[in-house]
Amino acid sequence: MKIAKALLAHYDAHARRLPWRMPPGSNEAADPYRVWLSEVMLQQTTVAAVAPYFARFTDRWPTVADLAAAADEDVMAAWAGLGYYARARNLLACARAVARDHGGSFPDTEEGLRALPGVGAYTAAAVAAIAFRRRAVVVDANVERVVARLFAIAAPLPAARPEIRDATDSITPDARAGDFAQAMMDLGATICTPRNPACGICPLRENCAACATADPAAFPVKAAKKARPHRLGHAWWIERADGHVWLVRRPDKGMLGGMRALPSSEWSAPAPPAAPPLPARWSALADPVVHVFTHFSLDLMVHVARVEGDCLPPGEGEWWPLKGLEQAGLPTLFRRAADAAMKETIQDA
Ligand code: SF4
Repeated sequence: MKIAKALLAHYDAHARRLPWRMPPGSNEAADPYRVWLSEVMLQQTTVAAVAPYFARFTDRWPTVADLAAAADEDVMAAWAGLGYYARARNLLACARAVARDHGGSFPDTEEGLRALPGVGAYTAAAVAAIAFRRRAVVVDANVERVVARLFAIAAPLPAARPEIRDATDSITPDARAGDFAQAMMDLGATICTPRNPACGICPLRENCAACATADPAAFPVKAAKKARPHRLGHAWWIERADGHVWLVRRPDKGMLGGMRALPSSEWSAPAPPAAPPLPARWSALADPVVHVFTHFSLDLMVHVARVEGDCLPPGEGEWWPLKGLEQAGLPTLFRRAADAAMKETIQDA
């Protein structure tokens, strides 16, 4: 337990102050709602990106019951820009399950948390350890990197994950497992960083196998990356002369599900046909909006047209005032498409 002892001593002196966190040694328990919300938001995203979203969410919905009672579209719009929108839908499903099935209190065991909708092994372990002070083995990307280095694990990711989890288990203390998890996350974020681990100031350097090698940053070993597939698609900016644009809501299932968006085609390779939703004098922007998702990259061709005041495009949608477009909660891809369209001079119908 040398590692836990050294790490916790370092954490007691240097813990990052974060809005969802209780300071080390605090007698007050962290609020499970805030811990859960922060953990869901932090997946695939940085603390700096999450902080303003966390502040807005907890101002507007201070308890899990408040969030459970929120309208879907308000939560999706508040989430806009954080990405990975399935998380926002799972967030709501989970809040509603806690309110409906658990009287508004999160279950206090890893197993109970794991049974909630959208709560995976990592989030359940993190909430159990941090909010309920249970012993749980918490492995996020930071912990994965630190542990792969501490033990100089030679197997490449992702195959090395079971080995990394066992190694993390072997150094997780029975007491203060939540602080230990947060201390590991802090170490990964501030000292044992991906490219330049600062071994000289690391509290674990005497116990670190990678530090004894010429290149600690070579761990975790990564399998050769597959090329990311590329897709193409079309989006249509339908602007009414009185300063409104036609927005639709994407189907609940699938990419950016449930979010407001411009009408668009399938995204595929080769390019899908550009079949506009209504006849108009369409002009295509010179450059596509290029967007990189986790599993593919996309060139979105944006077509713009201006229509008469009595036009009603087919299908469900709504005319949204251009002046209030920020409140529509467009996801980043469509916000960028909208920005590009608004720079274009549109020919009248
Ligand atoms: S000694 Fe270096 S490689 Fe090892 S955990 Fe610390 S910063 Fe990371």
